[in-house]
Amino acid sequence: MSKHTRKQKQDTRLAHAGREPARQHGFVNTPIYRGSTVLFPTMASLEANAQDFTYGRLGTPTVKALETAIAELEGGHRTLLTPSGLSAIAAALLAFVSAGDEILVADSVYRPNRRFCDHVLKRLGVTTIYYDPLIGAGIESLITEKTRVVFAESPGSQTFEVQDIPAIAAAAHAARAVVILDNTWATPLYFKPFAHGVDVSIQAATKYIVGHADAMLGAITATEAASRAVEKTHDELGLCPGPEDVYLGLRGLRSLGVRLERHQTSGLEMARWLAGRPEVARVLHPALPSDPGYALWKRDFTGSSGLFSIVLRPCTQAAVAAMLDGLTLFGMGYSWGGFESLILPFDPAAYRTATTWQAEGPALRLHIGLEDVEDLKADLEAGFARLGLRA
Ligand SMILES: *Cc1c(COP(=O)(O)O)cnc(C)c1O
Repeated sequence: MSKHTRKQKQDTRLAHAGREPARQHGFVNTPIYRGSTVLFPTMASLEANAQDFTYGRLGTPTVKALETAIAELEGGHRTLLTPSGLSAIAAALLAFVSAGDEILVADSVYRPNRRFCDHVLKRLGVTTIYYDPLIGAGIESLITEKTRVVFAESPGSQTFEVQDIPAIAAAAHAARAVVILDNTWATPLYFKPFAHGVDVSIQAATKYIVGHADAMLGAITATEAASRAVEKTHDELGLCPGPEDVYLGLRGLRSLGVRLERHQTSGLEMARWLAGRPEVARVLHPALPSDPGYALWKRDFTGSSGLFSIVLRPCTQAAVAAMLDGLTLFGMGYSWGGFESLILPFDPAAYRTATTWQAEGPALRLHIGLEDVEDLKADLEAGFARLGLRA
């Protein structure tokens, strides 16, 4: 990191972080290094492990470039890459828990995160207690001497509850528990986890960092104090993403700022338009002043991305299928954060345990891509006609 780093604005760092052209014969980008074996020149250097790179699984210059850039943008001490967002979550949790420990996990976390806790961690003797994402400082009442980790995701997957991270972190730290945050929605650009008390921040880089729906990648960033445990577990689990996926992460990162600006503007415009539609009962988007999470979002975040949800007025699943099946621009499928718009039905009532999902009708999650918003509105408008609620 250059000594001028702190004076430079985020967009400048996006273009320069992690790059060392002089070490790459002047080429602007760090190329894809492939490799398992790294040779040592002497027996002494082998035994001292005294060089930057020692084995392919432990990192390459391509990996180091992206790790350095993400650590700098998140504001953490060190980043480690993993082959997916879910493996980043799993490794971060495994770094801190032992049999007999308890962890507190927001009821609104990414669903596969729950499965990891309910199956793998349970088998290892770790108890997961789910909490209302809106609990704030009240988390204190759930913390016991066995609590090792408080896991947050803000805003929450699918339902977009904004969490009071500084209040949760203060209560967790008073009990020496580690705060892990899934920061995928805001990206390192719109929420600074370490300035809000987080110890470990997760990115599903698959989403906005890669940004083009063409690779799977995860990142774990930690404070200096939390880094040691994360590094050790990451090493012991043997987590290393493929070199091309890491390169695609680097390539995506350089344009993250401009892409997010468009996702933000188009997302807000679509959210406002949807709020005015007669078919829509509610829009769940924390950057809308009418949203219950708006005040906290405004206090802690510097922007919003293109992912939000809507709750429809009461209608049948068949009507929703008629709406979704005929869409031509909005694709139906998992993941998000690429250049293209997506839509997905969901029902949190099926798996949440600490809170009760109460909704007027079926719910849909939308990712607003980089297309023209008028075209996107026309696609949804035709979909609403098929939904047939106005009759
Ligand atoms: C997609 C997602 C993940 C998991 O990322 P993968 O790369 O698909 O494993 C984790 N957290 C959130 C919030 C996500 O949306």
